Amino acid sequence: MEFTPSYFRHYPDEKGFFGPFGGCYVPKELEAAFEEVDEAYQTICRSAQFINELRRIRREFQGRPTPVYHCNRLSRKIGRCQIYLKREDLNHTGAHKLNHCMGEGLLAHYMGKKRLIAETGAGQHGVALATAAAYFGLECEIHMGEVDIAKQAPNVARMKILGANVVPVSRGLKTLKEAVDSAFESYLNSYKESIYCIGSVVGPHPFPMMVRDFQMVVGQEAREQFLEMTGLLPDAVTACVGGGSNSAGFFTGFLADDVEIIGAEPLGTGPKIGCHAASITYGKPGILHGFNSMMLQDDQGEPLPVYSNASGLDYPSVGPEHAFWASQGRVHYQTVSDDEAVEAFFNLSRYEGIIPALESSHAIAAAIRWARSHQSGAIIANCSGRGDKDLDYVLERYGDGSDRLF
Ligand SMILES: *Cc1c(COP(=O)(O)O)cnc(C)c1O
Repeated sequence: MEFTPSYFRHYPDEKGFFGPFGGCYVPKELEAAFEEVDEAYQTICRSAQFINELRRIRREFQGRPTPVYHCNRLSRKIGRCQIYLKREDLNHTGAHKLNHCMGEGLLAHYMGKKRLIAETGAGQHGVALATAAAYFGLECEIHMGEVDIAKQAPNVARMKILGANVVPVSRGLKTLKEAVDSAFESYLNSYKESIYCIGSVVGPHPFPMMVRDFQMVVGQEAREQFLEMTGLLPDAVTACVGGGSNSAGFFTGFLADDVEIIGAEPLGTGPKIGCHAASITYGKPGILHGFNSMMLQDDQGEPLPVYSNASGLDYPSVGPEHAFWASQGRVHYQTVSDDEAVEAFFNLSRYEGIIPALESSHAIAAAIRWARSHQSGAIIANCSGRGDKDLDYVLERYGDGSDRLF
């Protein structure tokens, strides 16, 4: 298949499939709700009013465009290649997630909904969505496992300050999976006045498409900015892949170009079950949370335990479009361990004065690896978020870096 600009007219198809991946596997009672969102989105996203309003929000509220930055000192330390960053960490609230949350909020506003519903694990999606809800004057209901509530106190506080209703989930293991079930139930009971807002390019159609579309600005900006800076396209681009939203948005900008695309999956502490969350590298096709994709599952099709030191990356599946790109060989997925990510975290901090999120550190590690194995050329890594949220964890587990050689 050809990855030409017309790719976006054909993928996903009208049922939400990217080849065999994607779709909308939801309980019968919810089919109408997802269809309503799909129809509304297909109409609204083409209206000049919606597009102009989203552009204005991005410029005036989010602080877009975010810059592309040349890591001069880091590049010289690593070798002969040039490493660049797309600075999504400079978005309002400190990460790329606001790109799709503002889009989802604006869609809800146009559809006349009065409430946004979602689940959150580490709380990053909850905070971004609560921000969007405050902006649009919508109610916000965030379902969160009690275990996660105890672990993520600062994000719970942020959500509450922003006016969200944080619903504690006390069943089962009291973490993300139960929070998803709880959020779905609430949506089922209230979809006339609510919209369910998914936090990545996952879930039932139309969310993988919609969230990708809202994130495409990252790749479009980066391509234009890099061309303007250097007169050329980069040789390669890379981003970390959890659910896959920051990477999907960034990669789409370069899909039709002669540019190598590398997705960085979390290897955690190694390839054993429960030690990583590399769904494409070690998974197989399966259905989870309403969509068909590559997933880490046992013989009964139940999701396996996953782990990464970056809490935004520990999901046992991945957006269906990534599974498709992998199957077509258009994007190469590599794994990056906890330790490599932490090394990149300290290197970027020391050499460039930028403290990246641990998720983003996986992409930076992949860029460093690429630069070490090439004689010349340029790579852009998507710096999906800033590292402030990870400082306590890094300090406790890895120290402040003062014992490392730079
Ligand atoms: C949530 C998060 C991610 C992972 O989500 P994707 O959908 O894979 O992009 C990556 N980086 C940061 C900073 C995050 O907050």
